[in-house]
Amino acid sequence: PAHFLRSIKSLPLLNIHRSYSASPAVTKLFIDGQFVESKATEFVDVHNPATNEVVTRVPKSTQDEMQAAVDAAKAAFKSWSKASVLTRQQVMFKYQQLIKDNIHELAKNITLEQGKTLVDAEGDVLRGLQVVEHCCSITSLQLGETMPGIARDMDAFSFRVPLGVCAGIAPFNFPAMIPLWMFPVALVCGNTYIFKPSERVPGATMMLVEMLKEAGCPNGVVNVIHGQHDAVNFICDNPAIRAISFVGSDQAGRYIYERGSKNGKRVQSNMGAKNHGVIMPDANKESTLTQLVGAAFGAAGQRCMALSTAVFVGEAKNWLPELVDRSKNLKVNAGHVAGADLGPVISPEARDRICSLVQAGIDEGANCILDGRNITVPGYENGNFVGPTILADVTPNMKCYKEEIFGPVLVALSVDTLDEAVDLINTNCYGNGTAIFTTNGATARKFTSDIDVGQVGVNVPIPVPLPMFSFTGSRGSFLGDANFYGKAGINFYTQLKTVTQMWKESDVTPTQSATAMPV
Ligand code: NAD
Repeated sequence: PAHFLRSIKSLPLLNIHRSYSASPAVTKLFIDGQFVESKATEFVDVHNPATNEVVTRVPKSTQDEMQAAVDAAKAAFKSWSKASVLTRQQVMFKYQQLIKDNIHELAKNITLEQGKTLVDAEGDVLRGLQVVEHCCSITSLQLGETMPGIARDMDAFSFRVPLGVCAGIAPFNFPAMIPLWMFPVALVCGNTYIFKPSERVPGATMMLVEMLKEAGCPNGVVNVIHGQHDAVNFICDNPAIRAISFVGSDQAGRYIYERGSKNGKRVQSNMGAKNHGVIMPDANKESTLTQLVGAAFGAAGQRCMALSTAVFVGEAKNWLPELVDRSKNLKVNAGHVAGADLGPVISPEARDRICSLVQAGIDEGANCILDGRNITVPGYENGNFVGPTILADVTPNMKCYKEEIFGPVLVALSVDTLDEAVDLINTNCYGNGTAIFTTNGATARKFTSDIDVGQVGVNVPIPVPLPMFSFTGSRGSFLGDANFYGKAGINFYTQLKTVTQMWKESDVTPTQSATAMPV
Protein backbone atom coordinates (compact mmCIF):
# COMPACT_ATOMS: atom_id res chain seq x y z
CA PRO A 1 0.00 0.00 0.00
CA ALA A 2 2.85 2.44 0.68
CA HIS A 3 4.18 1.99 -2.84
CA PHE A 4 0.65 2.27 -4.12
CA LEU A 5 0.23 5.64 -2.46
CA ARG A 6 3.54 6.93 -3.78
CA SER A 7 2.69 5.98 -7.32
CA ILE A 8 -0.51 7.98 -7.05
CA LYS A 9 1.20 11.02 -5.56
CA SER A 10 3.73 11.18 -8.38
CA LEU A 11 1.26 11.29 -11.25
CA PRO A 12 2.05 14.20 -13.55
CA LEU A 13 -1.41 15.36 -14.68
CA LEU A 14 -3.54 13.81 -12.03
CA ASN A 15 -2.43 15.55 -8.94
CA ILE A 16 -5.05 14.70 -6.32
CA HIS A 17 -4.70 18.22 -4.97
CA ARG A 18 -3.71 17.68 -1.44
CA SER A 19 -1.55 19.82 0.71
CA TYR A 20 1.33 17.67 1.90
CA SER A 21 2.55 20.32 4.34
CA ALA A 22 0.30 18.67 6.88
CA SER A 23 0.44 14.98 7.66
CA PRO A 24 -1.71 13.23 6.65
CA ALA A 25 -2.22 15.31 3.52
CA VAL A 26 -5.32 17.52 3.42
CA THR A 27 -7.52 17.47 0.31
CA LYS A 28 -8.00 20.90 -1.24
CA LEU A 29 -11.10 22.75 -2.34
CA PHE A 30 -11.66 23.79 -5.98
CA ILE A 31 -13.01 27.31 -6.17
CA ASP A 32 -13.11 29.58 -9.21
CA GLY A 33 -10.75 27.32 -11.11
CA GLN A 34 -8.11 27.16 -8.34
CA PHE A 35 -7.17 24.37 -5.96
CA VAL A 36 -7.10 26.08 -2.59
CA GLU A 37 -6.27 25.03 0.94
CA SER A 38 -9.21 25.24 3.28
CA LYS A 39 -9.11 27.31 6.44
CA ALA A 40 -11.24 24.68 8.14
CA THR A 41 -10.62 23.71 11.72
CA GLU A 42 -12.47 20.39 11.49
CA PHE A 43 -11.52 17.47 9.28
CA VAL A 44 -12.76 13.99 8.35
CA ASP A 45 -10.17 11.24 8.00
CA VAL A 46 -10.35 9.14 4.84
CA HIS A 47 -9.17 5.57 5.38
CA ASN A 48 -7.98 2.93 2.98
CA PRO A 49 -10.65 0.27 3.69
CA ALA A 50 -8.11 -2.54 3.12
CA THR A 51 -5.75 -1.31 5.85
CA ASN A 52 -7.58 1.43 7.75
CA GLU A 53 -4.55 3.66 7.29
CA VAL A 54 -5.43 7.32 6.84
CA VAL A 55 -5.05 8.34 3.19
CA THR A 56 -6.02 12.00 3.49
CA ARG A 57 -8.02 14.40 5.62
CA VAL A 58 -11.03 16.17 4.18
CA PRO A 59 -11.76 19.66 5.47
CA LYS A 60 -15.23 20.68 6.57
CA SER A 61 -15.40 23.81 4.41
CA THR A 62 -16.10 27.06 6.21
CA GLN A 63 -19.22 29.12 5.44
CA ASP A 64 -17.01 31.75 3.76
CA GLU A 65 -15.44 29.13 1.49
CA MET A 66 -18.82 27.73 0.48
CA GLN A 67 -20.11 31.23 -0.19
CA ALA A 68 -17.00 31.95 -2.29
CA ALA A 69 -17.81 28.84 -4.35
CA VAL A 70 -21.37 30.06 -4.94
CA ASP A 71 -20.15 33.58 -5.80
CA ALA A 72 -17.73 32.11 -8.34
CA ALA A 73 -20.49 29.95 -9.85
CA LYS A 74 -22.87 32.92 -10.02
CA ALA A 75 -20.30 35.07 -11.76
CA ALA A 76 -19.33 32.30 -14.19
CA PHE A 77 -22.98 31.68 -15.08
CA LYS A 78 -23.19 35.08 -16.79
CA SER A 79 -20.72 34.12 -19.49
CA TRP A 80 -21.01 30.30 -19.47
CA SER A 81 -24.78 30.41 -20.05
CA LYS A 82 -24.07 32.54 -23.14
CA ALA A 83 -21.24 30.34 -24.46
CA SER A 84 -22.35 28.73 -27.71
CA VAL A 85 -23.61 25.19 -27.62
CA LEU A 86 -20.63 24.23 -29.80
CA THR A 87 -18.24 25.63 -27.20
CA ARG A 88 -19.86 23.54 -24.47
CA GLN A 89 -19.82 20.51 -26.73
CA GLN A 90 -16.10 20.98 -27.45
CA VAL A 91 -15.31 20.93 -23.72
CA MET A 92 -17.13 17.60 -23.47
CA PHE A 93 -15.25 16.17 -26.48
CA LYS A 94 -11.94 16.98 -24.80
CA TYR A 95 -13.16 15.87 -21.38
CA GLN A 96 -14.23 12.41 -22.49
CA GLN A 97 -10.81 11.84 -24.08
CA LEU A 98 -8.96 12.95 -20.93
CA ILE A 99 -11.05 10.61 -18.78
CA LYS A 100 -10.28 7.73 -21.17
CA ASP A 101 -6.58 8.53 -21.11
CA ASN A 102 -6.51 8.55 -17.31
CA ILE A 103 -8.87 5.73 -16.48
CA HIS A 104 -6.18 3.62 -14.80
CA GLU A 105 -5.03 6.43 -12.53
CA LEU A 106 -8.59 7.23 -11.56
CA ALA A 107 -9.22 3.56 -10.83
CA LYS A 108 -6.14 3.35 -8.59
CA ASN A 109 -7.41 6.21 -6.48
CA ILE A 110 -10.88 4.69 -6.27
CA THR A 111 -9.41 1.40 -5.06
CA LEU A 112 -7.28 3.22 -2.52
CA GLU A 113 -10.11 5.23 -0.98
CA GLN A 114 -13.18 3.10 -1.64
CA GLY A 115 -11.72 -0.42 -1.60
CA LYS A 116 -13.29 -1.99 -4.72
CA THR A 117 -11.11 -4.04 -7.06
CA LEU A 118 -9.15 -2.25 -9.76
CA VAL A 119 -11.18 -3.88 -12.54
CA ASP A 120 -14.39 -2.83 -10.89
CA ALA A 121 -13.00 0.68 -10.29
CA GLU A 122 -12.36 0.98 -14.02
CA GLY A 123 -15.99 0.01 -14.58
CA ASP A 124 -16.97 2.78 -12.16
CA VAL A 125 -15.10 5.31 -14.34
CA LEU A 126 -16.39 3.79 -17.57
CA ARG A 127 -20.05 4.07 -16.60
CA GLY A 128 -19.51 7.74 -15.75
CA LEU A 129 -17.53 8.28 -18.93
CA GLN A 130 -20.52 7.05 -20.93
CA VAL A 131 -22.56 9.93 -19.52
CA VAL A 132 -19.87 12.41 -20.59
CA GLU A 133 -19.83 10.85 -24.07
CA HIS A 134 -23.58 11.23 -24.24
CA CYS A 135 -23.27 14.89 -23.22
CA CYS A 136 -21.31 15.39 -26.44
CA SER A 137 -24.71 15.16 -28.22
CA ILE A 138 -25.94 18.29 -26.50
CA THR A 139 -26.49 19.92 -29.91
CA SER A 140 -29.41 17.53 -30.38
CA LEU A 141 -30.34 16.93 -26.75
CA GLN A 142 -31.07 20.56 -25.95
CA LEU A 143 -33.23 21.27 -29.00
CA GLY A 144 -36.48 23.01 -28.22
CA GLU A 145 -39.81 22.81 -30.04
CA THR A 146 -41.48 25.01 -32.60
CA MET A 147 -45.00 25.51 -33.88
CA PRO A 148 -45.46 27.92 -36.76
CA GLY A 149 -48.81 29.54 -37.46
CA ILE A 150 -50.50 29.27 -34.07
CA ALA A 151 -52.53 32.31 -35.16
CA ARG A 152 -52.42 34.61 -38.15
CA ASP A 153 -48.84 35.91 -38.50
CA MET A 154 -47.91 34.29 -35.21
CA ASP A 155 -45.40 31.51 -34.33
CA ALA A 156 -44.38 29.90 -31.05
CA PHE A 157 -41.18 28.19 -30.03
CA SER A 158 -39.65 26.97 -26.83
CA PHE A 159 -36.01 26.94 -25.74
CA ARG A 160 -34.46 24.68 -23.12
CA VAL A 161 -32.43 27.18 -21.11
CA PRO A 162 -30.15 26.54 -18.11
CA LEU A 163 -31.35 27.16 -14.54
CA GLY A 164 -28.33 28.93 -13.03
CA VAL A 165 -26.18 27.63 -10.19
CA CYS A 166 -26.90 23.95 -9.43
CA ALA A 167 -25.44 21.55 -6.88
CA GLY A 168 -24.69 17.86 -6.39
CA ILE A 169 -24.20 15.70 -3.28
CA ALA A 170 -22.73 12.23 -3.83
CA PRO A 171 -22.32 8.91 -1.94
CA PHE A 172 -19.18 6.84 -1.34
CA ASN A 173 -19.90 3.79 -3.45
CA PHE A 174 -19.20 5.13 -6.96
CA PRO A 175 -16.53 7.82 -6.57
CA ALA A 176 -16.37 8.55 -10.34
CA MET A 177 -19.64 7.38 -11.90
CA ILE A 178 -22.03 9.32 -9.70
CA PRO A 179 -20.21 12.69 -9.84
CA LEU A 180 -20.21 12.19 -13.63
CA TRP A 181 -23.99 11.68 -13.58
CA MET A 182 -24.21 15.17 -12.13
CA PHE A 183 -21.94 18.06 -13.12
CA PRO A 184 -21.26 17.17 -16.80
CA VAL A 185 -25.00 17.11 -17.55
CA ALA A 186 -25.54 20.37 -15.70
CA LEU A 187 -22.70 22.28 -17.27
CA VAL A 188 -23.21 21.09 -20.83
CA CYS A 189 -26.70 22.63 -20.56
CA GLY A 190 -25.11 25.96 -19.58
CA ASN A 191 -25.43 25.81 -15.78
CA THR A 192 -22.64 26.31 -13.26
CA TYR A 193 -22.06 24.01 -10.32
CA ILE A 194 -21.22 23.41 -6.67
CA PHE A 195 -20.27 19.79 -6.07
CA LYS A 196 -19.85 18.06 -2.73
CA PRO A 197 -18.29 14.61 -3.07
CA SER A 198 -18.70 12.01 -0.37
CA GLU A 199 -16.31 12.95 2.42
CA ARG A 200 -15.14 9.33 2.36
CA VAL A 201 -13.90 9.28 -1.27
CA PRO A 202 -12.83 12.78 -2.38
CA GLY A 203 -9.84 11.84 -4.60
CA ALA A 204 -11.63 10.84 -7.82
CA THR A 205 -13.60 14.09 -7.81
CA MET A 206 -10.41 16.15 -7.49
CA MET A 207 -8.89 14.32 -10.45
CA LEU A 208 -12.08 14.73 -12.47
CA VAL A 209 -12.23 18.49 -11.94
CA GLU A 210 -8.57 18.84 -12.82
CA MET A 211 -9.31 17.13 -16.13
CA LEU A 212 -12.31 19.38 -16.65
CA LYS A 213 -10.08 22.43 -16.26
CA GLU A 214 -7.61 20.87 -18.69
CA ALA A 215 -10.50 20.33 -21.13
CA GLY A 216 -11.05 24.09 -21.25
CA CYS A 217 -13.91 24.52 -18.80
CA PRO A 218 -13.72 28.16 -17.61
CA ASN A 219 -13.00 29.11 -14.00
CA GLY A 220 -15.97 29.05 -11.66
CA VAL A 221 -18.14 26.81 -13.85
CA VAL A 222 -17.62 23.85 -11.50
CA ASN A 223 -16.54 24.28 -7.86
CA VAL A 224 -15.87 21.61 -5.23
CA ILE A 225 -16.60 22.04 -1.54
CA HIS A 226 -16.10 19.38 1.13
CA GLY A 227 -17.93 18.55 4.31
CA GLN A 228 -20.87 16.80 5.88
CA HIS A 229 -24.10 18.15 7.34
CA ASP A 230 -23.16 21.83 7.32
CA ALA A 231 -22.21 21.63 3.65
CA VAL A 232 -25.45 19.80 2.85
CA ASN A 233 -27.52 22.39 4.75
CA PHE A 234 -25.66 25.20 3.02
CA ILE A 235 -26.57 23.71 -0.37
CA CYS A 236 -30.22 23.18 0.62
CA ASP A 237 -30.58 26.73 1.94
CA ASN A 238 -28.45 28.96 -0.30
CA PRO A 239 -30.85 31.11 -2.34
CA ALA A 240 -28.60 31.19 -5.42
CA ILE A 241 -28.71 27.40 -5.86
CA ARG A 242 -31.60 26.43 -8.12
CA ALA A 243 -31.41 22.62 -8.26
CA ILE A 244 -29.89 19.74 -6.28
CA SER A 245 -28.94 16.26 -7.43
CA PHE A 246 -28.56 13.79 -4.59
CA VAL A 247 -27.56 10.13 -4.52
CA GLY A 248 -27.16 8.21 -1.26
CA SER A 249 -29.06 6.77 1.67
CA ASP A 250 -32.80 7.10 2.40
CA GLN A 251 -32.26 9.17 5.50
CA ALA A 252 -30.12 11.82 3.80
CA GLY A 253 -32.14 11.69 0.56
CA ARG A 254 -35.50 12.38 2.20
CA TYR A 255 -34.00 15.13 4.30
CA ILE A 256 -32.36 16.87 1.33
CA TYR A 257 -35.46 16.46 -0.83
CA GLU A 258 -37.65 18.07 1.83
CA ARG A 259 -35.31 20.85 2.81
CA GLY A 260 -34.34 21.71 -0.76
CA SER A 261 -37.95 21.58 -2.02
CA LYS A 262 -39.16 23.77 0.84
CA ASN A 263 -36.66 26.35 -0.33
CA GLY A 264 -38.12 26.23 -3.84
CA LYS A 265 -35.35 24.19 -5.47
CA ARG A 266 -35.68 21.33 -7.91
CA VAL A 267 -34.41 18.15 -6.27
CA GLN A 268 -33.77 14.72 -7.75
CA SER A 269 -32.95 12.15 -5.07
CA ASN A 270 -31.79 8.59 -5.76
CA MET A 271 -31.83 6.51 -2.58
CA GLY A 272 -31.61 2.98 -1.17
CA ALA A 273 -32.64 -0.30 -2.71
CA LYS A 274 -33.41 -3.95 -2.21
CA ASN A 275 -33.14 -5.50 -5.65
CA HIS A 276 -34.78 -8.88 -6.21
CA GLY A 277 -33.68 -11.45 -8.77
CA VAL A 278 -36.37 -13.97 -9.71
CA ILE A 279 -34.97 -17.37 -10.70
CA MET A 280 -37.42 -19.45 -12.73
CA PRO A 281 -36.90 -23.23 -12.86
CA ASP A 282 -36.59 -23.01 -16.67
CA ALA A 283 -33.67 -20.54 -16.49
CA ASN A 284 -30.29 -21.39 -17.96
CA LYS A 285 -28.73 -22.67 -14.76
CA GLU A 286 -25.08 -22.04 -15.58
CA SER A 287 -25.42 -18.46 -16.70
CA THR A 288 -27.99 -17.62 -14.02
CA LEU A 289 -25.77 -18.80 -11.18
CA THR A 290 -22.75 -17.00 -12.65
CA GLN A 291 -24.74 -13.79 -12.96
CA LEU A 292 -26.23 -14.08 -9.47
CA VAL A 293 -22.83 -14.50 -7.83
CA GLY A 294 -21.36 -11.50 -9.65
CA ALA A 295 -24.37 -9.28 -9.01
CA ALA A 296 -24.72 -10.16 -5.32
CA PHE A 297 -21.07 -10.03 -4.28
CA GLY A 298 -19.33 -7.78 -6.81
CA ALA A 299 -18.12 -4.50 -5.26
CA ALA A 300 -18.68 -6.30 -1.91
CA GLY A 301 -22.41 -5.75 -2.44
CA GLN A 302 -22.00 -1.98 -2.14
CA ARG A 303 -23.89 -1.12 -5.31
CA CYS A 304 -27.34 0.41 -5.23
CA MET A 305 -28.17 -2.03 -8.05
CA ALA A 306 -26.57 -5.07 -6.38
CA LEU A 307 -28.86 -8.09 -6.66
CA SER A 308 -29.13 -8.62 -2.92
CA THR A 309 -32.31 -10.71 -2.79
CA ALA A 310 -32.80 -13.98 -4.68
CA VAL A 311 -36.33 -15.29 -5.15
CA PHE A 312 -36.27 -18.94 -6.22
CA VAL A 313 -39.48 -20.08 -7.89
CA GLY A 314 -40.46 -23.75 -7.45
CA GLU A 315 -37.71 -26.28 -8.11
CA ALA A 316 -35.10 -23.58 -8.75
CA LYS A 317 -34.44 -23.60 -4.99
CA ASN A 318 -32.53 -26.83 -5.48
CA TRP A 319 -29.72 -24.77 -7.05
CA LEU A 320 -28.79 -23.19 -3.72
CA PRO A 321 -25.96 -25.66 -2.90
CA GLU A 322 -24.34 -24.89 -6.26
CA LEU A 323 -24.72 -21.19 -5.63
CA VAL A 324 -22.88 -21.67 -2.35
CA ASP A 325 -20.05 -23.59 -4.07
CA ARG A 326 -19.53 -20.85 -6.64
CA SER A 327 -19.71 -18.07 -4.06
CA LYS A 328 -17.11 -19.81 -1.86
CA ASN A 329 -14.63 -19.66 -4.72
CA LEU A 330 -14.60 -15.89 -4.91
CA LYS A 331 -11.31 -14.35 -3.77
CA VAL A 332 -11.63 -11.72 -1.09
CA ASN A 333 -8.60 -9.45 -0.98
CA ALA A 334 -7.39 -5.85 -1.06
CA GLY A 335 -8.76 -4.32 -4.25
CA HIS A 336 -5.36 -3.69 -5.86
CA VAL A 337 -4.23 -7.32 -5.47
CA ALA A 338 -4.43 -9.13 -8.80
CA GLY A 339 -7.18 -11.72 -8.91
CA ALA A 340 -9.30 -10.19 -6.14
CA ASP A 341 -13.02 -10.67 -6.80
CA LEU A 342 -14.20 -8.48 -3.97
CA GLY A 343 -12.50 -6.01 -1.70
CA PRO A 344 -13.33 -4.68 1.75
CA VAL A 345 -16.44 -2.75 2.75
CA ILE A 346 -16.07 0.96 3.38
CA SER A 347 -15.59 1.11 7.17
CA PRO A 348 -15.40 -0.96 10.36
CA GLU A 349 -18.86 0.42 11.24
CA ALA A 350 -20.26 -0.79 7.92
CA ARG A 351 -18.75 -4.23 8.53
CA ASP A 352 -20.27 -4.41 12.01
CA ARG A 353 -23.66 -3.34 10.72
CA ILE A 354 -23.59 -5.95 7.95
CA CYS A 355 -22.58 -8.69 10.42
CA SER A 356 -25.29 -7.68 12.86
CA LEU A 357 -27.95 -7.86 10.14
CA VAL A 358 -26.74 -11.37 9.26
CA GLN A 359 -26.97 -12.31 12.94
CA ALA A 360 -30.46 -10.82 13.17
CA GLY A 361 -31.46 -13.05 10.23
CA ILE A 362 -30.10 -16.13 11.96
CA ASP A 363 -31.84 -15.18 15.21
CA GLU A 364 -35.13 -14.83 13.33
CA GLY A 365 -34.82 -18.29 11.78
CA ALA A 366 -32.87 -17.82 8.53
CA ASN A 367 -30.36 -20.49 7.62
CA CYS A 368 -26.84 -19.13 7.09
CA ILE A 369 -25.57 -21.51 4.39
CA LEU A 370 -22.44 -19.46 3.70
CA ASP A 371 -20.95 -17.32 6.45
CA GLY A 372 -18.26 -14.79 5.52
CA ARG A 373 -18.28 -12.87 8.77
CA ASN A 374 -15.06 -14.15 10.25
CA ILE A 375 -12.81 -13.88 7.26
CA THR A 376 -9.19 -12.72 7.58
CA VAL A 377 -7.14 -11.62 4.62
CA PRO A 378 -3.42 -12.32 5.09
CA GLY A 379 -1.41 -9.10 4.93
CA TYR A 380 -4.56 -7.02 5.44
CA GLU A 381 -5.66 -8.09 8.89
CA ASN A 382 -6.87 -4.58 9.71
CA GLY A 383 -9.12 -4.32 6.65
CA ASN A 384 -12.93 -4.24 6.76
CA PHE A 385 -13.48 -7.56 5.05
CA VAL A 386 -16.68 -9.56 4.89
CA GLY A 387 -16.72 -12.67 2.70
CA PRO A 388 -19.68 -13.75 0.56
CA THR A 389 -22.57 -14.68 2.84
CA ILE A 390 -25.86 -16.38 1.94
CA LEU A 391 -28.94 -16.48 4.14
CA ALA A 392 -31.53 -19.04 3.00
CA ASP A 393 -35.13 -19.59 4.18
CA VAL A 394 -35.54 -15.87 4.62
CA THR A 395 -39.10 -14.54 5.02
CA PRO A 396 -40.39 -11.01 4.35
CA ASN A 397 -40.92 -10.20 8.04
CA MET A 398 -37.20 -10.58 8.87
CA LYS A 399 -35.00 -7.54 9.45
CA CYS A 400 -32.39 -8.87 7.01
CA TYR A 401 -35.08 -8.75 4.30
CA LYS A 402 -36.61 -5.41 5.24
CA GLU A 403 -33.38 -3.41 5.53
CA GLU A 404 -30.84 -2.61 2.85
CA ILE A 405 -27.71 -4.54 3.97
CA PHE A 406 -25.26 -2.93 1.50
CA GLY A 407 -22.64 -5.65 1.87
CA PRO A 408 -21.75 -9.02 0.31
CA VAL A 409 -24.84 -10.75 1.68
CA LEU A 410 -27.45 -12.50 -0.48
CA VAL A 411 -30.79 -13.23 1.16
CA ALA A 412 -32.70 -16.06 -0.50
CA LEU A 413 -36.46 -16.63 -0.41
CA SER A 414 -38.55 -19.35 -2.02
CA VAL A 415 -42.00 -19.07 -3.59
CA ASP A 416 -44.16 -21.44 -5.63
CA THR A 417 -45.25 -19.24 -8.53
CA LEU A 418 -44.25 -16.26 -10.63
CA ASP A 419 -47.30 -14.36 -9.34
CA GLU A 420 -46.10 -14.80 -5.77
CA ALA A 421 -42.67 -13.49 -6.73
CA VAL A 422 -44.23 -10.44 -8.41
CA ASP A 423 -46.43 -9.75 -5.35
CA LEU A 424 -43.44 -10.00 -3.04
CA ILE A 425 -41.42 -7.50 -5.08
CA ASN A 426 -44.32 -5.11 -5.61
CA THR A 427 -45.00 -5.10 -1.86
CA ASN A 428 -41.39 -4.16 -1.03
CA CYS A 429 -41.00 -0.42 -0.44
CA TYR A 430 -38.07 -0.03 -2.86
CA GLY A 431 -38.25 0.18 -6.65
CA ASN A 432 -34.71 0.56 -7.87
CA GLY A 433 -33.98 -2.57 -9.91
CA THR A 434 -35.09 -6.16 -10.43
CA ALA A 435 -34.30 -9.04 -12.78
CA ILE A 436 -35.84 -12.26 -13.97
CA PHE A 437 -33.92 -15.30 -15.21
CA THR A 438 -35.93 -17.45 -17.60
CA THR A 439 -35.80 -19.03 -21.05
CA ASN A 440 -39.51 -18.41 -21.64
CA GLY A 441 -40.36 -15.19 -23.48
CA ALA A 442 -43.96 -15.16 -22.28
CA THR A 443 -42.82 -15.45 -18.65
CA ALA A 444 -40.38 -12.61 -19.17
CA ARG A 445 -43.04 -10.48 -20.81
CA LYS A 446 -45.54 -11.07 -18.01
CA PHE A 447 -42.88 -10.16 -15.46
CA THR A 448 -41.82 -6.94 -17.19
CA SER A 449 -45.43 -5.86 -17.53
CA ASP A 450 -46.64 -6.76 -14.00
CA ILE A 451 -43.63 -5.61 -12.01
CA ASP A 452 -43.70 -2.18 -10.35
CA VAL A 453 -39.97 -1.45 -10.37
CA GLY A 454 -38.25 1.25 -12.40
CA GLN A 455 -35.37 -0.79 -13.90
CA VAL A 456 -36.02 -4.33 -15.04
CA GLY A 457 -33.55 -6.91 -16.37
CA VAL A 458 -34.41 -10.03 -18.36
CA ASN A 459 -31.44 -12.35 -17.99
CA VAL A 460 -29.50 -9.18 -17.10
CA PRO A 461 -28.78 -9.03 -13.38
CA ILE A 462 -27.89 -5.34 -13.00
CA PRO A 463 -29.97 -3.46 -15.56
CA VAL A 464 -28.45 0.02 -15.21
CA PRO A 465 -29.57 1.88 -18.35
CA LEU A 466 -27.04 3.46 -20.68
CA PRO A 467 -27.26 7.25 -20.94
CA MET A 468 -29.43 7.36 -24.07
CA PHE A 469 -32.00 6.24 -21.48
CA SER A 470 -32.15 7.46 -17.87
CA PHE A 471 -31.55 5.88 -14.46
CA THR A 472 -35.19 5.20 -13.65
CA GLY A 473 -35.36 3.88 -10.09
CA SER A 474 -38.87 4.33 -8.70
CA ARG A 475 -41.08 4.23 -5.59
CA GLY A 476 -39.03 4.26 -2.34
CA SER A 477 -35.75 4.47 -4.26
CA PHE A 478 -36.44 7.87 -5.84
CA LEU A 479 -37.88 11.26 -5.00
CA GLY A 480 -38.43 13.90 -7.65
CA ASP A 481 -39.86 13.79 -11.13
CA ALA A 482 -36.90 13.99 -13.49
CA ASN A 483 -34.44 11.10 -13.32
CA PHE A 484 -30.67 11.22 -13.70
CA TYR A 485 -28.99 11.54 -17.13
CA GLY A 486 -30.46 10.85 -20.58
CA LYS A 487 -33.39 13.03 -21.72
CA ALA A 488 -34.73 13.24 -18.16
CA GLY A 489 -31.35 14.55 -16.97
CA ILE A 490 -31.41 17.29 -19.60
CA ASN A 491 -34.95 18.17 -18.53
CA PHE A 492 -33.85 18.33 -14.90
CA TYR A 493 -31.04 20.77 -15.65
CA THR A 494 -33.02 23.03 -18.01
CA GLN A 495 -36.21 25.04 -17.92
CA LEU A 496 -38.46 25.92 -20.79
CA LYS A 497 -38.73 29.43 -22.12
CA THR A 498 -41.54 29.79 -24.64
CA VAL A 499 -41.64 32.68 -27.09
CA THR A 500 -44.77 33.71 -28.97
CA GLN A 501 -44.00 36.15 -31.74
CA MET A 502 -46.03 38.05 -34.28
CA TRP A 503 -44.67 39.51 -37.48
CA LYS A 504 -47.48 40.87 -39.64
CA GLU A 505 -47.32 40.09 -43.32
CA SER A 506 -48.65 43.60 -43.99
CA ASP A 507 -45.49 45.01 -42.41
CA VAL A 508 -43.07 43.28 -44.80
CA THR A 509 -40.53 45.81 -46.07
CA PRO A 510 -41.38 46.75 -49.63
CA THR A 511 -38.79 45.36 -52.02
CA GLN A 512 -39.47 47.69 -54.96
CA SER A 513 -38.50 51.30 -54.64
CA ALA A 514 -41.33 53.63 -55.40
CA THR A 515 -40.36 55.91 -58.24
CA ALA A 516 -43.69 57.60 -58.74
CA MET A 517 -44.67 60.70 -56.80
CA PRO A 518 -46.53 59.60 -53.64
CA VAL A 519 -50.14 60.67 -53.85
P1 NAD B 1 -25.05 8.70 2.66
O1 NAD B 1 -26.45 9.13 2.57
O2 NAD B 1 -24.48 8.37 3.98
O3 NAD B 1 -24.11 9.86 2.04
C1 NAD B 1 -24.41 10.49 0.82
C2 NAD B 1 -24.11 11.98 0.93
O4 NAD B 1 -25.01 12.59 1.85
C3 NAD B 1 -22.71 12.27 1.40
O5 NAD B 1 -22.18 13.30 0.60
C4 NAD B 1 -22.90 12.68 2.85
O6 NAD B 1 -21.97 13.67 3.25
C5 NAD B 1 -24.30 13.21 2.92
N1 NAD B 1 -25.00 12.82 4.16
C6 NAD B 1 -24.86 11.67 4.86
N2 NAD B 1 -25.73 11.63 5.89
C7 NAD B 1 -26.44 12.76 5.85
C8 NAD B 1 -27.50 13.30 6.64
N3 NAD B 1 -28.00 12.64 7.67
N4 NAD B 1 -28.00 14.49 6.29
C9 NAD B 1 -27.52 15.15 5.23
N5 NAD B 1 -26.51 14.70 4.45
C10 NAD B 1 -25.97 13.53 4.74
O7 NAD B 1 -24.87 7.49 1.62
P2 NAD B 1 -23.59 6.56 1.43
O8 NAD B 1 -23.46 5.67 2.61
O9 NAD B 1 -22.44 7.38 1.01
O10 NAD B 1 -24.06 5.69 0.16
C11 NAD B 1 -24.73 4.48 0.24
C12 NAD B 1 -26.21 4.63 -0.01
O11 NAD B 1 -26.42 5.25 -1.26
C13 NAD B 1 -26.95 3.31 -0.09
O12 NAD B 1 -28.17 3.42 0.58
C14 NAD B 1 -27.18 3.11 -1.59
O13 NAD B 1 -28.28 2.32 -1.94
C15 NAD B 1 -27.38 4.52 -2.01
N6 NAD B 1 -27.10 4.66 -3.43
C16 NAD B 1 -28.17 4.83 -4.26
C17 NAD B 1 -27.96 4.95 -5.61
C18 NAD B 1 -29.11 5.13 -6.54
O14 NAD B 1 -28.87 5.55 -7.68
N7 NAD B 1 -30.32 4.85 -6.13
C19 NAD B 1 -26.66 4.90 -6.13
C20 NAD B 1 -25.59 4.74 -5.24
C21 NAD B 1 -25.84 4.63 -3.89
